[in-house]
Amino acid sequence: MSIVGIDLGTTNSLISVFTDDGPELIPNALGDFLTPSAVGLSEKGQVLVGQAAKDRLVTHPALTQARFKRYMGTNWGQKLGRKHYRAEDLSALVLGSLKADAENHLGHPVERAIISVPAYFNDTQRKATMAAGQIAGLKVERLINEPTAAALAYGLNDKDGESTFLVVDLGGGTFDVSILEMFDGVMEVRASAGDAFLGGEDFTDEVAKYLAGKLDTTLEKFSAKKAAMLRDLADQAKAKLSSEHEVSFKFIDDKSTEQTLSLTRNKLEEISEGLLKKLRHPIQRAVMDAGLRAENIDQVVLVGGATRMPVVRSLIARMFKTFPVHNLNPDHVIAMGAAVQAGLVDRHKALDDIVMTDVCPFTLGTDVAIEIAKGQYEDGHFQPVIERNTVIPVSRAVRNSTIHKGQTQLNLRIFQGEAPRVTNNVYLGQVNVPIPKNMKDYEEVDIRFTYDVSGVLEVLVKVLSTEKTSRLVIEGNPGALSKSEIDARFKVLDKLKIHPREETVNAAFTARLDKAYENHLGDARKDIQYLIGVFEAALARQNKHEIKEARDEIEPHLKTYEDRSIF
Ligand code: ADP
Ligand code: MG
Repeated sequence: MSIVGIDLGTTNSLISVFTDDGPELIPNALGDFLTPSAVGLSEKGQVLVGQAAKDRLVTHPALTQARFKRYMGTNWGQKLGRKHYRAEDLSALVLGSLKADAENHLGHPVERAIISVPAYFNDTQRKATMAAGQIAGLKVERLINEPTAAALAYGLNDKDGESTFLVVDLGGGTFDVSILEMFDGVMEVRASAGDAFLGGEDFTDEVAKYLAGKLDTTLEKFSAKKAAMLRDLADQAKAKLSSEHEVSFKFIDDKSTEQTLSLTRNKLEEISEGLLKKLRHPIQRAVMDAGLRAENIDQVVLVGGATRMPVVRSLIARMFKTFPVHNLNPDHVIAMGAAVQAGLVDRHKALDDIVMTDVCPFTLGTDVAIEIAKGQYEDGHFQPVIERNTVIPVSRAVRNSTIHKGQTQLNLRIFQGEAPRVTNNVYLGQVNVPIPKNMKDYEEVDIRFTYDVSGVLEVLVKVLSTEKTSRLVIEGNPGALSKSEIDARFKVLDKLKIHPREETVNAAFTARLDKAYENHLGDARKDIQYLIGVFEAALARQNKHEIKEARDEIEPHLKTYEDRSIF
């Protein structure tokens, strides 16, 4: 049974497998490699995943969710129909859909997976990703950092060389930068930096804001549906400007007035200026952390759909005075790399001479009180245990002592970050260690952090006087799901009615028709309504052959209505 590789993206997800011919992407029921990370409910209460759900964001916003990866490991939740879903649940539904596609393609059950995560995902977000896998019925063999996966996909093309890569991944919602070194088949991540709240969608938001401004209003003043429609247009306009210099299209506002909107590539660059500035800092930091200078970078690898933007490419080309490589499709690179990792875990013969190491992208530590004057302590200082960019897996210990004699408990708070005070770092949770009462002396403890290959943290605390070691699971993080909660979510989601895979094509087609209807007025609407009628009639006759014929017949008409650009 093969292990699959999964790129669980904010915007799009992909599934892949390592074969004797190397990494291979697996198409979904629509024949696409990219499955939009969107989940919705149909009118019949069935769960829809992918393109159909994405199109229904516009027509059925209350029944659809997207961009939930940003909320992994938090208490964020949304209602879909009558049930409440966390980001882990929605991600599990995406994973489940990919799993079904792979099973259909491979002809056998799929139970084990490698899932990619942004290098910058913290411990809670990583555990949430693992939980999502478990809820989907997958054993997550390990997580792989997305840029590492990208380099792995590229590194294989040239496995005898020696090379320093810079991987720049600008996806829908996250920005990751990594420096990797490959030498004699060993790939080492030297540094990672990034911004968990910066991606192509932010460019889309800027465009949508700008377009609303052109209509003398703001996005907030639109109805939810109209705002979603304008955002959808903004997204298309942005993507089109990667290959064209100007776009113009029609938009029907809340007063049913047809407006013509246009945008030039130059204007897009102008309104993106703030975001472009934010791209520079993590790139500079990664290069600095690796102890390198721009001229030491041999290859710049672009990953993520948003690196298709010419302005992003030229920014990077200017910074490194070299043109980025992109012989692999930037949308596919991570899934290809995840497949390579799956092949490695599976000990595939073709990968015998490849070894991989990775680093932890941020510092992990505890809070500690510092003695500022004799007998006077100040709380809240950060004590690093595992420093940023340490090669993983790693296990490090620090020795601490109690600050009062007779103290019977040590409350250890765990943080991630680079600030000297814990309040400015990310709180991961707390562990409470019982200390034997000792009125004569201070008690000492060894705090051991172990960071595994998936970047998941475990904390062990040993009280020296008793030699008692407690294996402590990080608790008290309100965003993390416990084992029993994961099992409970698995049971709940297992009972959901999933839209039948063989009807996905029809569901997606209906969603496209509905969306086109929403986006037009007058005669166009009448035409589309007619097309909807034809398709519904075919569906009602329940003859697969006839339904396909109807789709083929309608397709070219639908296409003309989907394209709202006027030149
Ligand atoms: P993620 O890894 O977050 O799932 P992707 O790598 O699939 O994201 O990238 C999605 C982002 O790329 C979206 O914001 C999308 O608008 C953007 N994108 C896709 N194609 C283009 C294009 N041709 N030009 C500009 N942006 C694009
Ligand atoms: Mg991605």
